[in-house]
Amino acid sequence: MRLFDAHDHLQNYPSDAAEAAAMAAASAAGVSGMLCCGTGPDDWGRVLELSGRYPGVVPAFGLHPWFGAEEGWLGRLEEFLRRVPGACVGEIGLDGVKGVAGQEADFCAQLELARQFARPAAIHCVKSWGRMLELLNAAELPCFMLHAYGGSPELVKAFAELGGYFSFGGELKDPKREKLRAALAAVPPERLLFETESPEGDEPGWRSGPAGVAEVVEIAAAALGRGAEDLAELSAGNAERFLSGKR
Ligand SMILES: [Zn+2]
Repeated sequence: MRLFDAHDHLQNYPSDAAEAAAMAAASAAGVSGMLCCGTGPDDWGRVLELSGRYPGVVPAFGLHPWFGAEEGWLGRLEEFLRRVPGACVGEIGLDGVKGVAGQEADFCAQLELARQFARPAAIHCVKSWGRMLELLNAAELPCFMLHAYGGSPELVKAFAELGGYFSFGGELKDPKREKLRAALAAVPPERLLFETESPEGDEPGWRSGPAGVAEVVEIAAAALGRGAEDLAELSAGNAERFLSGKR
């Protein structure tokens, strides 16, 4: 099975040993690649280093809506994007619960960089779906990923038309998340991605690092009534297309 973890934070493992163990398990599970998302200037260097250490780790650089940064961060982000041609922009976004003041201006400035550099963007969105749609409509990106998609099934079509990919994680397993599974079913198959958000929420035997994307794919496959191998292959191909900046 060929698997791609569309969203994780490898840089947040507490030690080199924990990170190496997670990567060995991922490799044994068939995870051939992942998008490792930075969250601010303090971790971009580490994200870049990890992408050099492990084949298949694609870096993303961005300022997360939960965090502020010192003046000059946008210029530094531009430098990272210039220096690493294969990098995505992320994790960026809007958060209606935990976002810092100024998050929308920061998000828009980063969308503009993604547009200028023609890079795919990895986007976080919590309770800001209407505004997100307006901003992405204006941003004219080649493509973007809504990570841990939590919007309504009805909004899927509008985001897809703007170049949206949709990534789903372990929340699909929650019996109470009927609406989430309806959103999953509404996504055009060629825009489906799966993720772990590791190491956040890693638990023994479940969401165990990037390897856990295998179980996410199995759960999604069962919800969609299709084979897990087939869905893994489809989403790995989608990830390649996303990373190359194509819809
Ligand atoms: Zn994240």
